[in-house]
Amino acid sequence: MPRVCVIPGDGIGQEVIPAAVRVLQAAVPGLETIQAEAGWGCFLERGTAVPPETLAAIRECGAALFGAVSSPAKKVAGYRSAILTLRQELDLYANLRPVRSLPRVSPRGGIDLLVVRENTEGLYVGRERLEDGGETAIAERVITRRASRRLAERALALMHGAGRRRLTIVHKANVLPLTDGLFRDTVREAVVRATRAGQAVEVEELLVDVAALKLASEPERFDVIITTNLFGDILSDEASSWCGGLGLAPSINLGEGVALAEPVHGSAPDIAGQGIANPIAAILSAALLARHAWSMEDSARRIEQAVERALEDGLPHGTEAITRSVTGNLCVGEN
Ligand code: ATP
Ligand code: MG
Repeated sequence: MPRVCVIPGDGIGQEVIPAAVRVLQAAVPGLETIQAEAGWGCFLERGTAVPPETLAAIRECGAALFGAVSSPAKKVAGYRSAILTLRQELDLYANLRPVRSLPRVSPRGGIDLLVVRENTEGLYVGRERLEDGGETAIAERVITRRASRRLAERALALMHGAGRRRLTIVHKANVLPLTDGLFRDTVREAVVRATRAGQAVEVEELLVDVAALKLASEPERFDVIITTNLFGDILSDEASSWCGGLGLAPSINLGEGVALAEPVHGSAPDIAGQGIANPIAAILSAALLARHAWSMEDSARRIEQAVERALEDGLPHGTEAITRSVTGNLCVGEN
């Protein structure tokens, strides 16, 4: 039986995650849940943003549904954002952002793309330093063959399973020939291996600036985009705008034998506690767990279709009413 570690976190995470769990339980009969803590509230209470038992519970379940965490306005000694700790501790090396046009809310139709972002290295290794008496600041960008390769292999396996064929490698190898050159060549080599093994893949390359422009002007041309950490951070936010808003954009982080799904939005302190947060991003993230953590494609599709039907009906106001509309639509026409 699938098990999920449920981590609402801070702010509207406390509202949208329980809503998503209700939908997930309806779509995955027998699902077991384990509640766990993380985030700023947890840090204030317990002195750590990610308690060891939270990590242990995620490892045990192999799957987590994470809400959002707040960060203090000023740096606080000993505090580090929970999601960064989780990504690192669990080696969640691939970040996926699927973006599909949704009825009534997406600014346009016909979009069905997936951004696959490297999640462990690049400019996010945190190696910054000052030199020259503070007159020069330097950040190191680390690209390894190992990380690029496992990312590419994971992306290609996902494409194979989903019948996706077109892979766009996004880089800036004209300016960064060593780092982005290594990334690009490693992805290309993985494509060659996959093709030899019989997978149909069309591969193209785009410089990141061109990719950003095309993503804004012709999003329907994309299928799967694969890129390094910083470019992926930026492009996946750009791509998410096509979902129709932050309240609708899901994501999942994948490691080996572990997956952590989370809505793209943050803890939204401005609306927290009012019962008005849109739970759809969290619900669609739960669907990604069904798909990627448990290979339950039918359950994932059922949840996604229920969300689409709820959107077609016109979304009611409030977290509870939206959740009811989705769960109500989960039963329609299903056997
Ligand atoms: P954090 O520091 O945790 O990221 P934030 O203030 O940046 O918090 P976000 O969660 O990133 O907040 O949200 C940005 C804006 O989008 C906020 O005004 C928030 O109210 C709105 N928003 C985010 N998620 C939702 C949602 N699920 N439903 C409705 N509005 C949302
Ligand atoms: Mg934010």
